[in-house]
Amino acid sequence: MNAPLSEQRLAEILARAAAATPGPWELCPSYGADFYANLSGSYLRGVGTLVFGDGEDAAADREFVLHAAEDVRELAAEVSRLWAERHSTNEALSDAAEALRVQRDRIAELETYEQLSPQQCPKGIHSDWLVDSEYAHACPWCRIDDLGTAHSNAVNLIAGLECDLSAANARLAELEALTPAPIQTCRKCGAGYDLGQPCSACQFQTLMAAEQAKRPSEGALAEQRHLVDPLDHAFEALALPHPTDAGSAL
Ligand SMILES: [Zn+2]
Ligand SMILES: [Zn+2]
Repeated sequence: MNAPLSEQRLAEILARAAAATPGPWELCPSYGADFYANLSGSYLRGVGTLVFGDGEDAAADREFVLHAAEDVRELAAEVSRLWAERHSTNEALSDAAEALRVQRDRIAELETYEQLSPQQCPKGIHSDWLVDSEYAHACPWCRIDDLGTAHSNAVNLIAGLECDLSAANARLAELEALTPAPIQTCRKCGAGYDLGQPCSACQFQTLMAAEQAKRPSEGALAEQRHLVDPLDHAFEALALPHPTDAGSAL
């Protein structure tokens, strides 16, 4: 196998082809039986007399030589074109190889990562999200919605309370502005009492009730009665007319 054609060798071939008379060369009988020249163009450019002899290769050699200039130029141009194509293909290949290497590195890096599990809103109304464990998690957007609802409920409640408070303040101011009567009617017993003092009728009732509670029950009274009976009998006996007294009266 021949060594690859070098750029310098191709340049030498191209220089020789460019310097030579453009082909194809054709037989030009007016200059002689074996004179060949380039007949196209403004004036005749000849290569001179070419004698190929009578051998069986003569016709082939003649054809080869006559077309050499144009064939060499065509082949050299194709070599240049293929070289350029190979160069750009090599560049594209090395770019692709570099891109592939970068992607393989990235794949190796990504493969070492712990994977996140996708999570979906159970109501199907929020976008999906990822978590770093295999367990299902409550939807954070739903939770935010719930908290938002709770917040607005609380705000409404506070607004209601503030409304009640200001009504109570107004009522308090209204009542504070009134002058209370010096004698008040007791809500419990209906008796009159001095403003700022306790109801004396109610106090009396309370004292009476306490005294009543101290008194013995009926059962206790019967028991006391039983203890007192012998004394009663004794007193009764003393009250009867004494026999001695009766005798003395007689
Ligand atoms: Zn949700
Ligand atoms: Zn009272």
